[in-house]
Amino acid sequence: MRKRGWHFRRMGSGFLLLSLAIIVSITLNLKFFNSSAISQASILNDDLDGNDEVYMLIWEEKKEKMLNTLIQQYYKEHPQKVLVTGKKGNLERHNKGKSETKKPKKAPKVQTPSLQGPQGNHVVYLTIDDGPSTATAKIAQILTQYHVPATFFLLEPNMKKYPNVLKDLAKKGFRLGLHGVTHDKNKFYHSRETVVAEMKTAQKTLQQITGIKTVLIRVPYGSVPYMTPDYRKAEAEAGFIMWDWNIDSRDWAFNDARYVSYTLKQVDQFRHKKESPVILIHDKPETAKYLASLLEALKARHYEFKTIDPNLQPLQFRWH
Ligand SMILES: [Zn+2]
Repeated sequence: MRKRGWHFRRMGSGFLLLSLAIIVSITLNLKFFNSSAISQASILNDDLDGNDEVYMLIWEEKKEKMLNTLIQQYYKEHPQKVLVTGKKGNLERHNKGKSETKKPKKAPKVQTPSLQGPQGNHVVYLTIDDGPSTATAKIAQILTQYHVPATFFLLEPNMKKYPNVLKDLAKKGFRLGLHGVTHDKNKFYHSRETVVAEMKTAQKTLQQITGIKTVLIRVPYGSVPYMTPDYRKAEAEAGFIMWDWNIDSRDWAFNDARYVSYTLKQVDQFRHKKESPVILIHDKPETAKYLASLLEALKARHYEFKTIDPNLQPLQFRWH
């Protein structure tokens, strides 16, 4: 990002933090640019008051979506501040007291975000998102053929669409987790209520179809940047255990055999790391087509496959 026109000395500490977050976020190659339009946000507080350069930056760089996401994140973490959305004067206050009144009586069990993944020498966790689908049967067949246990993070509408496929996954003993209902970031991440409600709906449907009740969840697009501390807390209070990944196969982008080599390249970099690889792939035909070659390559590297266990410390992306 260009820094023309920036005068850090004139900025408050709050915006400096935001700026740092933006730079870190770009470094992490996050999906801000796919972010759908959030209403134009501006800030009226002592951090940024009267700083025209902020607006210059927003409009010049056309990064308003990214900035808005970060600004909203910032205000969710700092509810004592005031966020102004839409037209000037249309105040949307994040009421700290309001959310506190909704806390359950039991002491919440809060998961601390950490990059510390499951410990284990040459253990790999294969996680498969967005199913069930028309590809699930083939994926399950390949996994079974190679004696590979895997974890599926399932979408509620797809469970209802393919109940028999889902039952078969359960029967074969694959680990089943939840991926929500809408897979729409505006709907899923709308509030602390929606992030929980979607998972509860998915949990209920899974239980109705398979008899299995799971607390394992993976949130759409991963937990950064949309899962605010408040949302994380809400999921944890509802008893859910959230998992991200540390290897993105990018099968969603490649749609061909390249996702295999791209994944293996990353796996090979894990040899000297403390955590095990947790690989993200997707439940779709293009992924199924090359899955056997991925499994063979991992087996050739003597990896042992395990499924995500609710007793493990969950691997989660870290904000800070
Ligand atoms: Zn997904």
